Amino acid sequence: MIDRAGASAVAVGAIAVAGIGAAVYQGMSPTAERYGSTVHRERSAERRVALTFDDGPNAARTPALLDLLAAYDARATFFVIGRWAARAPEVVRATAAAGHALGNHTHTHPTMPAHGRRRIGDELRRCRDAVEAAGAHFATLPGGALMRPPYGHRRPGTLRAVRAEGYVPVLWSITAFDWRRRTTAERIARRCARARDGDIILLHDGSDQRPDADTRATLAAVQVTLEHFAARGTRLVTVPELVSGAA
Ligand SMILES: [Zn+2]
Repeated sequence: MIDRAGASAVAVGAIAVAGIGAAVYQGMSPTAERYGSTVHRERSAERRVALTFDDGPNAARTPALLDLLAAYDARATFFVIGRWAARAPEVVRATAAAGHALGNHTHTHPTMPAHGRRRIGDELRRCRDAVEAAGAHFATLPGGALMRPPYGHRRPGTLRAVRAEGYVPVLWSITAFDWRRRTTAERIARRCARARDGDIILLHDGSDQRPDADTRATLAAVQVTLEHFAARGTRLVTVPELVSGAA
């Protein structure tokens, strides 16, 4: 039997757990905004969806992805890892030259809430240096250049640091789960097909673990996805195009 004090202790415990749950949600959900506004969807965008590819460039796979996007006249946004950009500057250049948007995904892909402002600034600067050394630049929105926190993880201080460095945090509204080892192209494509006007889809053309990750399932899914949206008259545009309504 629980007495009154015990019952209220249980209730306080439940509230504390709910609070932790809410904090985890706000720090990890790609569409949560309590820790500061982010770009994750643009509901006013008619017949437009944005594909985004994280964790490249991948010299072994990104060129095939660029060919595929070009075949459908589709534009996408690539959130690159600085240390991979430094290894494959020609892929960074080709991506920008094809009309795609580039964004900063840090230099080494750390979990940002675990680090202070100095480390975050250093990660962002090193990634920018690698992209600029390749002869390319990050695309911008009115608030700054595009940036995506690794894993989508953030806390208020993380987002303040990102903004102070001149970036706009860009999350997503559709998760394709293409990083799961046992996934299939069909499953990834099915996830992508859930996108409605204005959605931003998270995909990967690389891995933070290695520069030449096997992304063939994603590539096959992207082909199906490009067909899917072409049949519906939905254009695949960059994040700045999605937000501004241009293109
Ligand atoms: Zn990533």
